[in-house]
Amino acid sequence: MKILKERIMRDGHCLEGGILKVDSFINHQLDTRLMRQIAEEFQRRFADLNVNKILTVEASGIAPAVILGCLMDLPVVFAKKKVPSTMDDMYQTTVRSFTKQSDYSLVVSKAFLTPADHVLFIDDFLAIGNAAKGIINLCQQAGATIEGMGFIVEKEFTHGREMLQEMGINRIESMVIVESLDNCEIKLKE
Ligand code: 5GP
Repeated sequence: MKILKERIMRDGHCLEGGILKVDSFINHQLDTRLMRQIAEEFQRRFADLNVNKILTVEASGIAPAVILGCLMDLPVVFAKKKVPSTMDDMYQTTVRSFTKQSDYSLVVSKAFLTPADHVLFIDDFLAIGNAAKGIINLCQQAGATIEGMGFIVEKEFTHGREMLQEMGINRIESMVIVESLDNCEIKLKE
């Protein structure tokens, strides 16, 4: 996605520890026009898939997932990071946060993830793939099928894609692939 590459080169910043900061347009302030263009590209790339639900993780995955859900006319479920007091029957797993270096829970209600579900997972970043692995775990508990995974930014150098492929996810689409953030220089894949 040329427009996203240009935006990352213009407004993205590199932080210590291989973190790409994109909070002026993706995950704090949102550029809604760009987000819609991203969702349209997801829709185009996943047009051949038969899915009945979009799954994401709060908080940063919700925006692209909801816009895609509107375009595809599908419900969106977001896995929650805190157990709500109102939820009693749920699937739960533990995930290691890449950016915060701590563990968090991911929960989804049993009412919204079932063996009848064919899921498309959407998130803002693919780093080492821990969040995606948590989603695989929740879907396995529910007996749901993951048909594909889509990321706005994939960091190639942390090898999340390989890990997910080894876990049996063979449809992964990323809007932009970051080859390297060495020496705080952003290098995107052509
Ligand atoms: P993973 O679970 O694949 O290791 O990391 C994915 C999650 O960590 C994403 O949902 C995102 O919130 C966060 N993350 C990973 N790498 C980056 C990064 O370079 N920049 C930002 N802003 N978030 C990241």
